[in-house]
Amino acid sequence: MPKIVMKFGGTSVADIARIRMVAKRIKKDLSNNNQIIAVVSAMAGYTNELTREIENISPLYDAREYSAVVSTGENVTAGLLAMILQEMSVNARSWQGWQVPINTSEEYSSARIINIDTSNLLSKFNEGMEVAVIAGFQGLASDGRITTLGRGGSDTSAVALSAALNAERCDIFTDVNGIYTTDPRICPKARKLEKISYEEMLELASLGAKVLQTRSVELATRYKVKLRVLSSFSSDLKVNNGTLVCNEGEIVENKVIAGVAYSRDEAKITITGIEDRPGVAALIFSRLSEQAVNVDMIVQNISDNGLTDMTFSCPIDQVPRAEVAIQKNTEKNNLQYDKLIIDKEIAKVSIVGVGMKTHSGVAKMMFEALAKERINIIVISTSEIKISVLIKRKYLELAVQTLHDTFELEKA
Ligand code: ASP
Ligand code: MG
Repeated sequence: MPKIVMKFGGTSVADIARIRMVAKRIKKDLSNNNQIIAVVSAMAGYTNELTREIENISPLYDAREYSAVVSTGENVTAGLLAMILQEMSVNARSWQGWQVPINTSEEYSSARIINIDTSNLLSKFNEGMEVAVIAGFQGLASDGRITTLGRGGSDTSAVALSAALNAERCDIFTDVNGIYTTDPRICPKARKLEKISYEEMLELASLGAKVLQTRSVELATRYKVKLRVLSSFSSDLKVNNGTLVCNEGEIVENKVIAGVAYSRDEAKITITGIEDRPGVAALIFSRLSEQAVNVDMIVQNISDNGLTDMTFSCPIDQVPRAEVAIQKNTEKNNLQYDKLIIDKEIAKVSIVGVGMKTHSGVAKMMFEALAKERINIIVISTSEIKISVLIKRKYLELAVQTLHDTFELEKA
């Protein structure tokens, strides 16, 4: 029997009425002779609430206990959905990550899936189970402890299960009806895309488009999972056909730029007066990595009198960890520097498109558009298919709108 993975995000399961809607949709798909794997998130806001509690206790929390706490939201949703399906005479049961099991690495709060043992699931399907409701976001480390896959990790659970079970497709149900050229809340002219390439989706996700977790797109690319993003609020598939994430070759529309992404909560940290000699950068970034700081952009200044400055950006909530990392001098492990300058009023704006591989002048257009609005660029970084800039957060909306206009993304 064909297997279909359906993932429902937090807003799709925000209360009992919505979980009932989800159950109805699942029941409808069952009638096409499918076996369904329903992956669920925690009810909207639940994970945030738990995260706030944890941060109130300590910003330098133990990642194992963090995962023990935040993974609970998904258990509640999975149980509720299974129960409601049973009430509708569907043979369903809930599965927590460790029960499958979904085996992961030991980075407890941002674990990677290593493998999924599908034998338990398959034997239950053989015994007549119609729907496996699986708690997203969770895994099991080899030491027996619960792990979580990083914020938004249920997407990755869904894609990984699709690959492991060789599912026909993986539908991600969310509160928007697809992938947009940018965030419609900031730029009302944003347009829904019919299709987007894996490569572009990967960049957009990693640059801050929150619709899909980056790792889920990585996995979908690697295992060629047929991935679709669509709204859980409209059941008419003619109107709501979502956005298909697919190979570049399957896309007819070929614009230079596919979308504008942003990330609002960035911080910029500058360490001044460090020695310009081999090993200093290695020392700084190995300490940051020990503290699990996700460093994004890095700039090192030209040195003056053997001294230089190093600037890097990271998510704002990781600033306390970054400070600990840099200040953690011991006798053997000594980093000499002058000042630590922290700017928390930073945002990142990026343009993404596979067309950049073959078109020149894209950077010029982007920088001119920002200059025209008198937006100062603080740091620039590029890859083959993206250009990112750090700017002051107060210009974020303006920058996104200007770039959307400049590259005429409202036009199909
Ligand atoms: N509940 C988790 C979060 O809010 C995982 C997910 O929803 O994908 O990040
Ligand atoms: Mg999500």
